[in-house]
Amino acid sequence: MAEKKVYIIPCSGIGKVFGSIGRETTYIVVNELARGKTELECLPLIVKGKKEVIEKLKENNVIAIDGCPLKCSYNNLMEQVGKVDAQFMTTNIVKDNRDLKPEPSIIPIGENTKALSRKLAEQVSKKVEELIEDDKIGE
Ligand code: SF4
Repeated sequence: MAEKKVYIIPCSGIGKVFGSIGRETTYIVVNELARGKTELECLPLIVKGKKEVIEKLKENNVIAIDGCPLKCSYNNLMEQVGKVDAQFMTTNIVKDNRDLKPEPSIIPIGENTKALSRKLAEQVSKKVEELIEDDKIGE
């Protein structure tokens, strides 16, 4: 059986830097740290219940990244796909790195925001490796 992919689904937060951290984190994971093992998917398609997307996510691993306690990615994945294999909150990486206060600017994002995104991307990529290893053990 083909190796499962890990889909990364950031929330759609657009007005605040916490949403920007989620998107930037996803780009670093998918394009750099876990390139070839991960893909991103668009949350609005999941919210709409697009059949091909939902089926694909059911068959693969899924990681939600959210920017606030409303957890739009996690909650919509649970509703439409019925599972989430791992979840991350961008607020936690900010809390854990008090020396890196994210700049309010979202276009462009600031240097601290970039550094926070990279730190979170490292955590997400580690989880990607764990999920892939777990799949191998389970085969
Ligand atoms: S989780 Fe929070 S920041 Fe992200 S889309 Fe939902 S309301 Fe916006």
